Amino acid sequence: MRTRNLGEADKIVTMYTSARGKIVAVARGARRTRNRLLGVTQVFTHGRYLMFEGKSMDTLSQGEIIHSFQEIRDDLEKMAAAMYICELVDAFVEVEEANQETFDLISNTLRMIETGVVKFALRVFELKIMQQLGYEPQLQTCTHCGGSVAEQVMFSREGGAVCESCKHKAAPVHVISKGTRALISRILEWDWSRLTILRPSSQSLEELESCMRAYIDYRLDKPMRSLEFMHTLNDFPDSEVTS
Ligand SMILES: [Zn+2]
Repeated sequence: MRTRNLGEADKIVTMYTSARGKIVAVARGARRTRNRLLGVTQVFTHGRYLMFEGKSMDTLSQGEIIHSFQEIRDDLEKMAAAMYICELVDAFVEVEEANQETFDLISNTLRMIETGVVKFALRVFELKIMQQLGYEPQLQTCTHCGGSVAEQVMFSREGGAVCESCKHKAAPVHVISKGTRALISRILEWDWSRLTILRPSSQSLEELESCMRAYIDYRLDKPMRSLEFMHTLNDFPDSEVTS
């Protein structure tokens, strides 16, 4: 998920594992050319690793690549998206809290990003990670008074629908059309193989992006650094950033 340099040749790696959840380990010598840990400790790599438990930190001693996700590292838009999902996991997930569902979600999202379905992959990831963390947005009834809501939902950054009479208390609100509301239900209910056949409209993707952005920022206490990188890329025409 993330690496940072330590000393002259080592790396500290933050990984998400299926067995132990998020862990931080040191990879000795991983920045030396021809070191056997150089390739397996590249960010976004899916692999099998051998770790030794240490007093303060584990040591990563060996690794074997299952899928390198090289295509993501070769493309700035895909890389920015992958950085964003890793930052989100890092911000919300505590160390050593294993969750196979989260592992599968990260892995499936990276694969979708790799195929080039970037925006939809990010929206699916945001909704499903919030669901897994117990922060599933509530759209059926008003989150303030429990009353009924219109088909065109007013979404508050506190995480769900608000009714006409409560909307001033929850301002600002984001309006979600009927189609986007249906899309949200599908994302929350469907498994990954069914989701990959969906091709949502750009209007739905935009509505979803702004309401999830407001919701996630409300839940987090600090701004996400990868967003700035993504926005910078969006400010340039494609031809300037692909090479
Ligand atoms: Zn209400």
